[in-house]
Amino acid sequence: MKVYPAETLIRPDLQAHIFSDALLHNVRALRRLCEEGTRFCAVVKANAYGHGLPEIVNILRQADVDFFAVASIYEAIHIAAMEREIPILILEPIYAAQPPDQILAAARNGFHCVAGTTEVIDFLSDILAGAGETLNLHVNVESGMGRCGIDPEEASRLIRRIDQCPNARLAGVYTHFATADEEDLSYAWHQLERFERFLESHRIRQRRDVLVHAANSAATIKIPEAHFDMVRCGISMYGYYSRRMADPPIVLRPVMRVQAPVVQIKHLPAGHSVSYGRSFVPYRDTTAALIPLGYADGYWRCFSNRATMKVGNMFAPVIGRVCMDQLLLDVTDIPDVSLGQMVTAIDNDHDSPCGVYALADLAGTICYEILTCVHAHVNRIVH
Ligand SMILES: *Cc1c(COP(=O)(O)O)cnc(C)c1O
Repeated sequence: MKVYPAETLIRPDLQAHIFSDALLHNVRALRRLCEEGTRFCAVVKANAYGHGLPEIVNILRQADVDFFAVASIYEAIHIAAMEREIPILILEPIYAAQPPDQILAAARNGFHCVAGTTEVIDFLSDILAGAGETLNLHVNVESGMGRCGIDPEEASRLIRRIDQCPNARLAGVYTHFATADEEDLSYAWHQLERFERFLESHRIRQRRDVLVHAANSAATIKIPEAHFDMVRCGISMYGYYSRRMADPPIVLRPVMRVQAPVVQIKHLPAGHSVSYGRSFVPYRDTTAALIPLGYADGYWRCFSNRATMKVGNMFAPVIGRVCMDQLLLDVTDIPDVSLGQMVTAIDNDHDSPCGVYALADLAGTICYEILTCVHAHVNRIVH
């Protein structure tokens, strides 16, 4: 399969600084919540939550990571091109119209795939038998998430079918929580109960070569009973709780800071409107700094006239509309702003006015979306 270079169209001056020590700290902190022997699956889908897939995989080689999880086979192939030791779980279920070369690539690379239906096994076994390959399969048991899991009866049939198929191996049984990040965990407990009932009635825990897993970051932190053989952590590995917690049980350190340079400094007389739609009109003579960052880079348009950026040690408001790749800051009150100076658009500090939690609140979304929107053409710089 063709590997598309991640470097395509990268802009060196838009910088996402990636802090290795923060990432490694978070992995250790999450691991410490687990019993000895629990495997740690690092979820690196969506370009490692916007942090840069190759960069994050490379740093995680120094960490105690047992698995990677990605959404698609395309991401798995990228990882396999750089790292052959750590197995990769592909979370999107295999489907019966998938190109056969992908099935074969998955088998040859030892990827762990998810079988979404019993019928897909017939499709797989024809392809695999012809090539003499075996594929590792995980079964996603629906316990209440209501997404791509399959209900327990169908999951039973699927497991029987996998056991009968010489070219498939049951490598995992798992489920996924819908509400583990909420304060009220009663639905998560209900899901856990349904999942455990399934495990028991199929004697899955007695099968030593079958990995049982359920916990995302929130469940890893809050529901030790859900750890089983492996935890699957995404957001907290990157330094965030799924939703901000008042009294966080472990210290997480944000891994990414996004910066861009000042490329023009201009003086706007009072009353001179700024940018599309004239949504900002300064009441005073204003010094503005032009920043070549916009919604095409992942800096949301709804931050117009609402967000701030960190300039030196001060915070400058975004004035006027955020454009596709430009915006203006009001730096009237900030001394010594210079051309080429880097300003911080997305801060690696939980309490910063331009931190990810604050920006997610402004945008009416969750921190995942702010992070994953940071475009792949932003230059990742690893520290
Ligand atoms: C994305 C994902 C995770 C990681 O979730 P976080 O909340 O980021 O820890 C775990 N499991 C599955 C199935 C996922 O899709």
